Amino acid sequence: MKSVSDLGDLTGMRVLIRCDLNVPLDGETITDDGRIRASLPTLKELRDSGARVIVLAHLGRPKGQVNPKYSLAPVAKRLSELLDAEVNLASDVVGESARDVAARLSDGDVGMLENVRYEPGEESKDESARGALADRYAALGDVFVSDGFGVVHRKQASVYDIATRLPHAAGKLVEAELEVLRQLTEMPASPYVVALGGAKVSDKLAVIANLIKTADTLVIGGGMAFTFLAAQGYEVGKSLLEQDQIERVRGYLNAAAAGGKQIVLPSDIVVAPEVSADAAPTVVSADAIPADQFGLDVGPDSARVFAGVIRKAKTVFWNGPMGVAEWQSFAAGTRAVAQAATEIDGLSVIGGGDTAAAVRDLGFRDDEFGHISTGGGASLEYLEGKTLPGLAVLDDGV
Ligand code: ADP
Ligand code: MG
Repeated sequence: MKSVSDLGDLTGMRVLIRCDLNVPLDGETITDDGRIRASLPTLKELRDSGARVIVLAHLGRPKGQVNPKYSLAPVAKRLSELLDAEVNLASDVVGESARDVAARLSDGDVGMLENVRYEPGEESKDESARGALADRYAALGDVFVSDGFGVVHRKQASVYDIATRLPHAAGKLVEAELEVLRQLTEMPASPYVVALGGAKVSDKLAVIANLIKTADTLVIGGGMAFTFLAAQGYEVGKSLLEQDQIERVRGYLNAAAAGGKQIVLPSDIVVAPEVSADAAPTVVSADAIPADQFGLDVGPDSARVFAGVIRKAKTVFWNGPMGVAEWQSFAAGTRAVAQAATEIDGLSVIGGGDTAAAVRDLGFRDDEFGHISTGGGASLEYLEGKTLPGLAVLDDGV
């Protein structure tokens, strides 16, 4: 895989760069700008080398339609502040405005296209639809730099197809993320503990088959825990549950037992009668979740046990909040796990947009952890041993 420095003299060159700037927004206010900050090193490198930089990025899921709610305007503004330079945002993705923004760039300038997911071709399963869009991206630039680590597991026009049309390289963020993931897959120091939580349960359950082989201990919290508790025959009330995954999860529990691996599940749960910030929380035993309640965090005993397991690890990978950490009443499990991850004598890696936002929101600093990955899904798929299309396409020796 080439680095930016392998692309030769970039002075005056139009460099298209895919970044992952998909930040959480509250209205037009960015609540965690971590992904924008993580994109700065490559953008600065490109500016310093005299390139004319054109940023491609997405925000949310506009599903192929122009929708001002998903405009990159707040992102362009924040990027401009952080770079201390003007960032000209086109009003379209590959239309007249995009061509105009690209044409007006001077050496070292940065421009941005509107949300690439406004274009139906971006996420299309149809290769020719993606290709047609990629052709229009490619017409705007001379080379392509892939730095949106959080999207490299997606076969999308601005991630994958564009790289087949232009000379290309990996940016610094993609390189840094890969370096850490290699440490996790090539002989991680033992004990290696993987903690999983969050809400994208079926996506994440798929990873476990592989993690059971590499990790020593799996800690399961968040929405995912309830499918495990159900697999053990417990009632989970109105909590998140993937009914059709229960058999699979039973298989994991058996595989772990047979392989001498530990799967640590919550022994108590913080429940509430409704899913809201000010719902009254109660702690119940994991085998006594009332039928009319939602499990919204792991309980205090579970938090203590989880933290103890993590603290003793030499390698930790954590994805997914242990509860609805956005709300004070249901954040204690996530706080305990985050605290323990800061205390380990070894490598701690946190992945996932919501997980990263949660730990920052709880007051932890990035440098208290070994690495905060910008990509949840991408990191998990890498750890699963899958080929990530956006990386494979860079690694073609061209
Ligand atoms: P990440 O973005 O870090 O990969 P996910 O997107 O999978 O994580 O999950 C994050 C979301 O999971 C958060 O918004 C959080 O509120 C939610 N969550 C965590 N635990 C629960 C639970 N027990 N019930 C419902 N939602 C939960
Ligand atoms: Mg998420």
